[in-house]
Amino acid sequence: MAVGILVDLERCVGCWTCSMACKMGWSLEDEEYRLFVRTLGSGAGIDRPQGVYPDLKMSWQPIYQKSCTFCAPRVADGDKPFCSCSCPTNAISFGDPADENSDIAKEMKRCKDMKYRIFEMPAYEGSKANISYATKA
Ligand code: SF4
Ligand code: SF4
Repeated sequence: MAVGILVDLERCVGCWTCSMACKMGWSLEDEEYRLFVRTLGSGAGIDRPQGVYPDLKMSWQPIYQKSCTFCAPRVADGDKPFCSCSCPTNAISFGDPADENSDIAKEMKRCKDMKYRIFEMPAYEGSKANISYATKA
């Protein structure tokens, strides 16, 4: 079974709960992040929008590091990954995309039905494989 994660970027509000849940759940060191949330704004720093007031725009993208284990021990016990089950907007779905009954397969279908664009990070980002994103843009 090749598991993966789909993030619906239309639902992501940049709260970092997913990242913090991973850190707390796996007792990571202060400087260790298996997942961080990138601000898509002006590029001047976290939570800096692009544009000129009142035409401002900002969105977010969770970025999974190669150190992410897809929460294998939890999944083996029948639980969902910490990041997925903690997201307050249900933006993160997990599972085997080839299993039509999995959360990720159902979400992939919903996003495709909504005509969302589905994409993965380019290799030069060096982020974890099998992470997909869905967005209207
Ligand atoms: S994916 Fe969910 S938990 Fe993570 S930053 Fe976005 S809204 Fe928050
Ligand atoms: S799947 Fe598990 S290990 Fe990977 S980022 Fe989410 S909580 Fe952390």
